[in-house]
Amino acid sequence: MSGLAGHRVTAIEPLTLRSRYTRSIGRNARLGAHGDGPEARGWLVRTDTGLVGWGMDERAPSEPSSLVGRPLEELIDPATGVVEPAALGLDVALHDLAARALELPLHVLLSGGGSAVAPTVPAVPAVPAAPAVPCYSGAIYFDDLDPDGAPRGLDAVLESCAADHAAGHRAFKLKLGRGNRWMEAEAGYARDLEVVRAVRAAHPSAHLLVDMNDGYSVERTLRFLEDTAELDLFWIEEPFAEERSGLTRLRARRRELGAGVLVADGEFDPDVEAVLDLAAAGLVDVLLMDVLSFGVTAWRALLPRVRELGVQASPHAWGHPLKTLYAAQLAAASDVVPVVEGVPGTTDGVDDSGYTLRDGAIRLPRAPGLGLELTSARPS
Ligand SMILES: [Mg+2]
Repeated sequence: MSGLAGHRVTAIEPLTLRSRYTRSIGRNARLGAHGDGPEARGWLVRTDTGLVGWGMDERAPSEPSSLVGRPLEELIDPATGVVEPAALGLDVALHDLAARALELPLHVLLSGGGSAVAPTVPAVPAVPAAPAVPCYSGAIYFDDLDPDGAPRGLDAVLESCAADHAAGHRAFKLKLGRGNRWMEAEAGYARDLEVVRAVRAAHPSAHLLVDMNDGYSVERTLRFLEDTAELDLFWIEEPFAEERSGLTRLRARRRELGAGVLVADGEFDPDVEAVLDLAAAGLVDVLLMDVLSFGVTAWRALLPRVRELGVQASPHAWGHPLKTLYAAQLAAASDVVPVVEGVPGTTDGVDDSGYTLRDGAIRLPRAPGLGLELTSARPS
């Protein structure tokens, strides 16, 4: 018995969730301006016991009407996640709902706190103090290149870092690869280096991560490692499309340089088993599959394998501030997620005040489920 007996799904309603970034987000190595914040689809699930769970998910459940009337325990097992394939598009909503039904914060359920609760025993395991999950700002794009007619230069990048620092961030991920599309290759590389050095000078104790969105060649990546060897970078993300020979050369150069920088990959169009093979070979240190398109249930199955391989993970969250909070719940339940990606901003009609960012870490709410309340989201 899962402890979810006695709840039956009575409605599944679509939501439209509009994110708003704290500032307009510019270009990266592959894509143009990211704007002020996108819309995404979400789902709200109601039960005959008066419970409501909801969450963002771009994967639509197949035939939602066929899930209405089903017992909740047929759709999700607190120990593993969504067990009904047709309900995978409700991954976050059902996790929120199950944790609310068991009166547990989601990260406690994800840690196994929900599976030991027998239905005849009140769900009263001790809820630990709100955990704090390290979080970096993922919002440092090519601000120096905008606006097109009068680019603002390096100061614009430093201003973005300062704004995120003021908001509580103590780690920054710098988008690199300006020479891939937006500048002449050599000038773009020089600017990338200038940016990393300037941010390091302005924030000497910050964790610095860099992300090329596959915009570097293997050769340029090796050169970058040498040029930044003194800057104590935390990780280098997607320098080039992951492949064994290039990553093998990267590992050899890291060893020669004695560089502690980690290699993070698996975000863009991942072949998960291939990425796991690269991790097993010591070529990828941090796995980055997306918290939503890969999914919470899939991540729950994968994290024990990540631990067995002796590597780490950080579910990709860019795009929506809510995704950061979902990743933070997974991170709080695992010892192999060192940091999560912060998307600075808000979501219309969502009260996320249970989460606070301070000194580089997100404090999670002690409320049941995700601890997020929907105030006025507009149904699609
Ligand atoms: Mg990335």
